[in-house]
Amino acid sequence: MAEQLIIAGERHDAASGETFTVIEPATGAALADVAKAGPADVDLALSAATAAFNDGRGTWARTSATERGRVLHRVAELLREREDLFATTEARGAGHPIGDARWEVGAAAGTFEYYAGAANKHFGSVVPVQDAGLDVVLREPVGPVGLIVPWNFPLLIACWKLAPALACGNPVILKPASLTPLTALLLGDVLVDAGIPSDQVHVLPGPGGIIGDALVSDPRTSKISFTGETTTGSSILKSSADNIARVSLELGGKSAAIVFADANIAKAAADAPMSVFGNAGQDCCARSRILVERSAYDEFLEIFEATTRAIKVGDPLSTETEMGPLISEGQRQTSLDYIEIARGEGARVVSGGDVSDQAGYYLSPAVVADVDNSMRIAREEVFGPVASIIAFDSEEDAIRIANDSDYGLSGSLWTGSAPRAIRVARSIRTGTLAVNTNRSVRYEAPFGGYKRSGLGRELGMQAMDAYTEVKNVFFSEED
Ligand code: NDP
Repeated sequence: MAEQLIIAGERHDAASGETFTVIEPATGAALADVAKAGPADVDLALSAATAAFNDGRGTWARTSATERGRVLHRVAELLREREDLFATTEARGAGHPIGDARWEVGAAAGTFEYYAGAANKHFGSVVPVQDAGLDVVLREPVGPVGLIVPWNFPLLIACWKLAPALACGNPVILKPASLTPLTALLLGDVLVDAGIPSDQVHVLPGPGGIIGDALVSDPRTSKISFTGETTTGSSILKSSADNIARVSLELGGKSAAIVFADANIAKAAADAPMSVFGNAGQDCCARSRILVERSAYDEFLEIFEATTRAIKVGDPLSTETEMGPLISEGQRQTSLDYIEIARGEGARVVSGGDVSDQAGYYLSPAVVADVDNSMRIAREEVFGPVASIIAFDSEEDAIRIANDSDYGLSGSLWTGSAPRAIRVARSIRTGTLAVNTNRSVRYEAPFGGYKRSGLGRELGMQAMDAYTEVKNVFFSEED
């Protein structure tokens, strides 16, 4: 039987009765059939969400912020209790190594705990106006929110959106990627089991071009939070323009790790491979451009390449595995195409890019050296396990190359000099930067992109601003 979608907290078949098949990336075989939502299901979900929000009952919006926090704590508890189910489903559905998938379930629970605590600590203010009276600024939920999620981190990115949206009192309509809908549906069950009123919870798997667009262009959708490709983000901005919907976009990246010769080269070079090849390179924060000062270039490349060769690529369900398959044959082919393009443009493919005859969408991580920043491999997001190594000659050169990109999502900076770290960190045009580490995203801190990498910020207290409206009320002192 097909996995049913969730409308008003309950499992249903799609109104059309249609289903689609989800493929397991490690085998290329069918994993599950899932109900395929259509515009009629979007209409049902928005009707339920809007009725509860607009008729004053506002079950969830009117629940005290403290109580909302308690319920979100319960969501986190249930996620931890169901770790095996979530981690195994993510490993099989998205190809994540099981160790990573377990970490992601913990991070998903941590995200809910953070916003459980934030619910009653995000509030308005009193403004000292000159008229006689009291001027109050209120923070109110924005209304039904459409949360559109990609396939690379299906569970985690859904939680980055759901937790603050719910903490602020909004009804949620979650649209997972068609390649990876399974953990989103499990998450919908958890929200209802934790006590979020059922009319606030909707999970609609189905084709983005149809139901994503129906959700975005419907005037009842007050806000869209989207993560995915830059071109899709641009089309969402256009579709939501007539309704003046609030929109946050987390889009693509081509992030640079800059390694100066005064850094701990052994550490930087050993750490760098998983900053590109983690999740098989399907990470918007991947440091896919690695800029190395020329005097340290050969030493860095030798360690980087040896560390890359030691990465264990294989079955996501094995605890030994460090890199699983890519999500699809198409995604693997795109990576192979970029390796050939790089070769054709004069870059040196040092190792990797091999396809074995085992089933599944596996590809060994590819190291491409002597890349020039003008090459397509340095300018376009590959979203696969392909690292470009670029040499630079000076601090100014490094900053110029790092900033010479349409994107500005993430990045790293490795140096032994504190003054240089300050100078360079302030010069790089990116939303997130890590110094002497490659880890970028922490749910306590804001995350998002400059330039074509996005609009608005997720995570941190900034997300609480993004899911609320500001209302100003003046109470006159006059009788
Ligand atoms: P897509 O943009 O193709 O899809 C993302 C989501 O949008 C999916 O749920 C998709 O549905 C849906 N969608 C597709 N078309 C529309 C539409 N016209 N209207 C509304 N929704 C639509 O991205 P991918 O899934 O391929 O994800 C990979 C991309 O995501 C990469 O570019 C990556 O950089 C980016 N990304 C950015 C992050 C960030 O925080 N900046 C984090 C993670 C990924 P369906 O699956 O049915 O097509």
